[in-house]
Amino acid sequence: MVDFIYDHIAAIRAEIASAAQAAGRGVDDVKLMGVSKFHPLEMMLRASDCIDLLGENRVQEAVEKRAGWPPENKTPWHLIGHLQKNKARKALEIFDLIESVDGFDLAKTLDRIVAETGRATYPVYIEVNMSGEEAKNGIALRDAEKLLEQILIECPHLRVEGLMTIGPLTDDEKQVRVAFAGLYAMRGSMREKFGLALPELSMGMSGDFKVAIEEGSTIVRVGTAIFGSRNI
Ligand SMILES: *Cc1c(COP(=O)(O)O)cnc(C)c1O
Repeated sequence: MVDFIYDHIAAIRAEIASAAQAAGRGVDDVKLMGVSKFHPLEMMLRASDCIDLLGENRVQEAVEKRAGWPPENKTPWHLIGHLQKNKARKALEIFDLIESVDGFDLAKTLDRIVAETGRATYPVYIEVNMSGEEAKNGIALRDAEKLLEQILIECPHLRVEGLMTIGPLTDDEKQVRVAFAGLYAMRGSMREKFGLALPELSMGMSGDFKVAIEEGSTIVRVGTAIFGSRNI
């Protein structure tokens, strides 16, 4: 019944491959995340065979879905939506990685809980608001480097493995490209300054993943183009 998912994913994989090739990158340099918010578990299970990662926005929704998820299915789950501190413990339980760390208070809270639960470290990305749009989540561009520095010094249980951003909501491809290129450049200067690898750049969604790949994305987060519209 939900076999259209396979066709959608095959089409997206082909687009990823051609965008990567056009940019002189390997197709294996780009991971495909299926963003499954508001879509049922059945669709996520179907998709999990042929995507690399799953992304959910809200902790509560993900808790409910996780309860029905077969433990032998090892597709990693990433949190990509804004995280409130009071949900940090739950998020750490059910997600393999949190992409939306956007402030020092949240980072401290996560660090403390990771330590309490006896884990050595937990992987996170810093979410950066590249477009400066008010409503958008993410740490402001000018504060991102400081946040990374604070985490490196004061949150020894967090491992910063990458950066994440949501492209500006516009049809103007040039503006979108500037935002993605900006995150790529920021990663470069952070690598240099802090000697970190920061292997992952999570950027690009259904409408702009090709531009994101051209600008260096390593994870594209695709919802609508895989699962259909969310009917909300
Ligand atoms: C919903 C969402 C996506 C997927 O968006 P689509 O346009 O449906 O592909 C990607 N990233 C984040 C952070 C989201 O909230």
